[in-house]
Formats: sequence, C-alpha cells, structure tokens
Amino acid sequence: MTQQTQVVVIGGGQSGLAAGYHLRRLGVDFVVLDAQSTPGGAWQHTWDSLRLFSPAAYSSLPGRLMPPQPGEAYPGAQHVVDYLADYEKRYELPIQHGVRAHAVHRDGAFLRVETDNGSWRARAVISATGTWSRPFLPTVPGRSVFQGVQLHTVEYRNPQEFAGRRVVVVGGGNSGAQIAADLAYDTELTWATQREPRFLADDIDGRVLFDVATARRRALDEGSSDAGGVASLGDIVAVPPVRQARDAGLLKWSPMFARLTRHGVAWADGTTAEADAVIWCTGFRPVLSHLAPLGLRGPRGHVPTAGTRAVGEPRLHLLGYGDWTGPASATLIGVGRPARDAAREISALLASGH
Ligand code: FAD
Repeated sequence: MTQQTQVVVIGGGQSGLAAGYHLRRLGVDFVVLDAQSTPGGAWQHTWDSLRLFSPAAYSSLPGRLMPPQPGEAYPGAQHVVDYLADYEKRYELPIQHGVRAHAVHRDGAFLRVETDNGSWRARAVISATGTWSRPFLPTVPGRSVFQGVQLHTVEYRNPQEFAGRRVVVVGGGNSGAQIAADLAYDTELTWATQREPRFLADDIDGRVLFDVATARRRALDEGSSDAGGVASLGDIVAVPPVRQARDAGLLKWSPMFARLTRHGVAWADGTTAEADAVIWCTGFRPVLSHLAPLGLRGPRGHVPTAGTRAVGEPRLHLLGYGDWTGPASATLIGVGRPARDAAREISALLASGH
C-alpha cells in the first residue's frame, strides 16, 4: 500500500519532533515514522545515572520549556523521555511508532520512502534517525583475543554488575567520564583516553557549549575566522557525579593502551593491566543506511549538506546528526533552529511547485 503526504520525517526522537513542531506551524501535511514502539528516541536506552549536561530550561525543544526535575540541577534520561512523550502529545504530532524506513528512492516528482509497513510518497523527506543505533568501536589489536566482557556505551546500564571487578573504560568524552565516575567507587577502574581528559570549567555546562557553537556557526556564516568552537574549551561537562568522583581523586586517567590481550590490556611500553571488562565509550556514527539508494554519501560517511539540505538532493534534509547538520544540532536546545530552517525551506519548495 502506498500512502501520500507532503513530507515524511524519518525518526521520532528529539530531532524529528522539533521538525514536526515547525512543519505543523507552517501548515505542512506530514507524518513522522519512528522505528521504536514508544516515544523518547535514544533517551530510552541510556545508562541509569546519565545526567543531561545542561539544566532543564536549556534542554528544551521549540515551543515548550522542559520542566525542572525536582531536586536535580541536571535532569536524568527518564525525565527527558517523559518530556518528549508529552511533547508528541501536546503538539498532536502525527507520529507512527513501530515503523522502520528501509529505503528512500527518487520517484519522479516525489521521494518514495519504503517501510516495513508499506511505502510513502512525499515531496520532501527529513532524515532524523540519530546515531544511537550505530555505535562506533575503534580497531584495536586483540579485540577478538580478549576473554573478558566487552560492551559499548549503548549496552551499559549501571555499576552493580561490575562491583569488585577490574574494568577498563575507554574514551575521554562525556560518556566515558560519566561511566568512569559511575564505576569509580566499586570497581578496580582503569580509564584509558587518547589524550588527557579536558574538563570544562565547573561553571561551564551545556548552556555555554550551545552559545559557543552558535557563535562559531555565525562566524563561519559571516566568513570570519573559526574560533574553534566548543572543542577549544574542553570535552567534558563536570556534571555533579563526575565532579564528585574527580574531586575524590577517583578519575585518574591512563593513555590509550596499544592492544588487548587474553586477560587485559597492554601498553606500548610493555605495562599491562588485567581486566574483566572493557567498556567502549567511543562514540557513534550517523544512521544513514536508509538513504543509500539516493547515492549521496560523502567523506567520513556524512552526506554533503548546505545547512540541513542535502546538496545532491534538495528535497532531502538531515537533522540532528551533529555540527555538520547545524551547530549543536545533536542537542535538545540546539536542534530547534536547524529544524525551523529545514521546515521553512521545505515549505518554500512546496509553494514553488518544484
Ligand atoms: P535519536 O534520539 O537517536 O532518535 C532517532 C529516532 O529515529 C529513534 O527513535 C530511532 O529508533 C529512529 N530511527 C532510526 N532509524 C530509523 C529508521 N530507519 N526508520 C524509522 N525510525 C528510525 N543532548 C543534549 O541535548 N543534552 C545532553 O546532555 C546530552 N547528553 C548525551 C549523552 C550521551 C551519552 C549521548 C550519546 C548523547 C547525548 N546527547 C545530549 C545527545 C542526544 O542524546 C542525541 O544527540 C539525541 O538523542 C539525538 O536525537 P535524535 O532525535 O537526533 O536521535
């Protein structure tokens, strides 16, 4: 069965919802297709103690302030899931959960979206499929030799199952720091990072990151020099659990090891550490396989874009994948503006009749 609408939004996490909010305000006919049966996108799958790196009010989607979580300066993941579920309902967004898009094809004046529940023909598509379902694991020698447990951020839930064991956490970003802090009290922890972890100043959190990312985009748009963006400030927001473990001297770091052995890890200088588990907090890649039929992939697995619009297919917009689809667009507060811009461009495209 083929259904028809003006715009299909693929992905109903924060990015897809922000796009839906703006499409609705512009009176565009659209549907949001989300592979998960329940609202909340990736936030449904994070570890128990995860904390947002910005206070609630600075983690809001367009049109609706995220309410504070009582007693928490930085809300937890379940609070975000509840907020996103409420957002879907409040704005009566036409979202179909449990529908996975497998492929997007050109089809004359339309784009055809094939899903596991029939296909859709639309004049434009917004891809907002996130990164969570595409964890990145670096190629490190010995990964297949190691006899212990290996998991990625996406599989980690809480420290209980690792109590008393020797655990290596790999990665110097927010995930690595928050999971290392989680494990620091009851495990024999080794925190391995490629360079010395760079904590942002304690009074800097996601608010500043958003301001810096936005200023950088403006500077780049105006053709002035690139102030280096967020990366020039540091990598890790010292949310309370990270700050406590760091101040207790429990977040000691080691340089990245050279290889895994049967029973642990080994550095180039010959030192070794035995381990029962290695947790790879090594990031993600954008989930884009459904766009393969359009033949748009560019360097580093991204799709070349002008803002959110795919350079090779002006009827396709990409949202929420990272700075390459808009400054801080992979954050709750940062996705609003690129979502608005994408909706406006699509609305103009529809009005032009092209
Ligand atoms: P997702 O939340 O991943 O949602 C994408 C949706 O698309 C999912 O429901 C998925 O099932 C669906 N989907 C995927 N493929 C298909 C398909 N083919 N067909 C249909 N549906 C599909 N951001 C902040 O603002 N503040 C923070 O403090 C913060 N902390 C973070 C901590 C960690 C550890 C991580 C990993 C990220 C953090 N982020 C934070 C970023 C934020 O969580 C993600 O960038 C955000 O989830 C991206 O939202 P999204 O809607 O783009 O993707």
